Amino acid sequence: MVVAVQQVPFVDLGRQHQEIARELIDACRRVTDRSSFTLGHEVEAFEKDFAAFVGTSEGIGVGSGTDALLLSLRAYGIGAGDEVVTAANTFVATAEAIALCGATPVFADVDEDTLLIDPAAVEAAITERTAAIIPVHLHGHCCDMNRLSEIAARHGVKVIEDACQAHGASFHERRAGSLGDVGCFSFYPSKNLGALGDGGFVTTDDPILAEKIRQLRAHGEDASRVHGEIGYTSRLDGMQAAFLRVKLPLLERWNSRRQQAAAAYKSELAGSSAILPATQAGSSHVHHVFAVRVRERNSVRVRLAEAGVHTAVHYPIPVHLEPAFAYLGGQPGQFPIAEKAAGELLSLPMFPYLHADEIAQVSDALLEALRQ
Ligand SMILES: *Cc1c(COP(=O)(O)O)cnc(C)c1O
Repeated sequence: MVVAVQQVPFVDLGRQHQEIARELIDACRRVTDRSSFTLGHEVEAFEKDFAAFVGTSEGIGVGSGTDALLLSLRAYGIGAGDEVVTAANTFVATAEAIALCGATPVFADVDEDTLLIDPAAVEAAITERTAAIIPVHLHGHCCDMNRLSEIAARHGVKVIEDACQAHGASFHERRAGSLGDVGCFSFYPSKNLGALGDGGFVTTDDPILAEKIRQLRAHGEDASRVHGEIGYTSRLDGMQAAFLRVKLPLLERWNSRRQQAAAAYKSELAGSSAILPATQAGSSHVHHVFAVRVRERNSVRVRLAEAGVHTAVHYPIPVHLEPAFAYLGGQPGQFPIAEKAAGELLSLPMFPYLHADEIAQVSDALLEALRQ
């Protein structure tokens, strides 16, 4: 007789949606009753609430996290001839946004311990063409924003935070999205705050920039219906905003459950050969992803799958080596820390409703796989 192995999903959104099913249906009703599907009442209410949560005076709902980055770059007038510095190990969307506005992505290597963009590498990458830097708060852990802000100020370049994985994360008591000139968020369903479809958000304390982004998200149209700029169709949906209003009050509880799961993994895996994620002093890490570093990652992954444990890799190819960015002439060996990390990182199941027995199953399976 074959006994089925208990499966541990990488992410199970069904568990959070079950808990708020009633509220989500009511939210849907509110939107259909008013027929405000693109922008409108729910979007405005959510914009106020999420900006207040982040700690900025302005909040603009847009179509996706990538668009949040793209519209921010465009609103600063960044485009052809400009360079924008970002991390070599990030989700491809960060570099995509830079390329889509016409600017040139310039990559910087990351810190060995945190795998976050290395401020010294950023400084070394700055040229007279640099218009902005985009630190990525990878896996839910804020970059060293004190050093990055100081470097940016000294060189007169903007800081656009890619906070797409860092809803609610903080750095010295200030939340991700309020640490740079502008903050960009994604509400892709599996993010710490996720819609039931695509969505994104820009936070800033600059009302003029906010107004430009509001115009760009809706065809470049201003209040007098003049189109001064070529814009986009990148509005946040009323339906998504209504769902996000249901979820936002739960975000802190969900983040603390992620932190508890991370603490449990760390205690179960202490002393193993896996390198565990570090948290910088003064940071609150919200563990969008819980990634360990292991040698022979691919065979470890196969053994975990055999033990019913579903894992992922964030990210297997550093951006400078992705075919889409081959035109930039990236070479293996250029960013050694990012490249080594890409070969070793292994993301374990992580979501707010992960059970204690699942964490134990994952940890036991990983310890076993590492012994082989
Ligand atoms: C998810 C993500 C994005 C893009 O978000 P979309 O909403 O999918 O466009 C950008 N940067 C990082 C680091 C992300 O994780």
